[in-house]
Formats: sequence, structure tokens, C-alpha cells
Amino acid sequence: MTKLTPKSPRKPVPLLVFGAHPDDIEFGCGGIIAGETKAGHAAHFVVCSRGEAGTNGTPQQRVAEAERAAKILGATLEFLELDGDAHLEIRATHAIKLASIIRRLRPSVVLAPTVELNQHPDHWRLGQLVRDATRLARYGGLKELKKFPSHKITNLFFYAVSSDAEPSGAPPVLIDISPPEIIKAWTGSMEAHASQMKTRNYVEFQLARAKVHGMRASVKYAQALYPNDSLVFESLAQLG
Ligand SMILES: [Zn+2]
Repeated sequence: MTKLTPKSPRKPVPLLVFGAHPDDIEFGCGGIIAGETKAGHAAHFVVCSRGEAGTNGTPQQRVAEAERAAKILGATLEFLELDGDAHLEIRATHAIKLASIIRRLRPSVVLAPTVELNQHPDHWRLGQLVRDATRLARYGGLKELKKFPSHKITNLFFYAVSSDAEPSGAPPVLIDISPPEIIKAWTGSMEAHASQMKTRNYVEFQLARAKVHGMRASVKYAQALYPNDSLVFESLAQLG
């Protein structure tokens, strides 16, 4: 009988983060990533285009910027070819590809863009594909995924690349990113996307968003995550 488990499975990655474009992760949840890697938790980014439809920056520049940004955040990075920038479609084959990455890396927590419609279409489509992928990664019978054993993640959270992408009605989980070293790393990772600053001062925009979320949480800066499933606690005391 053929053993399906790979010979040398990689060390599990606690945090796996998907982005549609080279700067989405840094802008949408870079402060949270900086806090996690500072705490010693590994993070891996999967970026699903090279930003080739953007007004500024060549795909080569965008890739180099993303690599530098990931390094600043202490994360590893890979690019995945799907349909290309501004062409992403929701297809079962894409969800299976993403599920295969989840199985290969075996994360506990997965982050993806929110599925709100009022934003770049690649963002919500990728969020939907990742949501499907986390489910498919669990199913034992999918022949395309037989290379790796099935895997159930602990939690899927969505992050909002911009304020338009924040879901209305659902209170977010707010993560305190106030420590200066976290803000410094996050800011540096956003500044690494220098080509995109010609369009708008995204660093100021994202810091302002984090300040507003921080005010809601009575801290200096916070970033928001939106859980896909109910969060489960053993007791109210765990809520601190
Ligand atoms: Zn984007």
C-alpha cells in the first residue's frame, strides 16, 4: 500500500496568510503579523499575483518589494500563479490548489481578505476561495489532494485591506499592536511597497485606521480580524 504522507513533512507553520496582491497582507494585517513573529510564531505568506495590473510598479519591482516587506515582518513568502492580477475567478481548481498549500504547511490559523463585495474583486474572491480551501483541506476523499494528509485548521480569520472591506454588523476581534517595535516593523513593511505610494499615502491611511480601531479598544493602535466561525472558549475567564 502506498503511503501518502510525504517523506519529510515540513515543520507546521502556525500562521498562514493569503494575499491577492503583493501589498495586501502588509496593509491589511501587517501589524498583527509583526506581533506574532516577534512572539516567536512563524508566519508564511502566499501572494496570488505579481500586481501586474497596478498603475505603478513593474511585476519585478512588486515582487522585490513584497520580498523585502516579508523579511521586515520576519515572514516567509511564496507566489502562486492563479489567473493573474484583476482576473481572479472563483473556481474549484483554485480552491483545491489553495487547499493543497494548507495541507503542505499545516497551519493552525489562516488569514485571508474579507469577502465584502465593495472592494477590489480579487480581494473578496480570494477570501471566498480560501474559505472553501480550508474546508476542502479537511476532506479525505479528494484525489487531487492525496499527496498530503488532510488537515483541519483551528481558525480562519479575515482581514480588511481597506476600510471599504470591513464587514458591517459583525464586531471584529481587535489585536493590540501598540508596542513601538511592532509599529516600526509594520510601518517599514508598508514603506517597502514604495511603488504603491505614488498612488496614495497608504502608510498614513493604514496607521489612521489602526488608530481608530485602537481607540475602540482603549489602546494606541489595533488591527481588526473577522472570524469565519464562532470563537470557542473554555470559560468566560479566558476572555480576560
Ligand atoms: Zn490588493
